[in-house]
Amino acid sequence: MKLNKTWHASNKMPENASFEQRVGWHLEHAKNCSCRPIPKKLLKEMKKKKFCKNA
Ligand SMILES: [Zn+2]
Repeated sequence: MKLNKTWHASNKMPENASFEQRVGWHLEHAKNCSCRPIPKKLLKEMKKKKFCKNA
């Protein structure tokens, strides 16, 4: 578990983030930081909507 403080400081999740924003945030987050995984619920939605290329 490694927190990329620099990335987090410049990449805040918008307060009323839409699904697309959340997906985008988490995909970028996964590339830059590993403090927490993409929530299972979100992953499921991503697979459904074919957002996730690694699914
Ligand atoms: Zn993080």
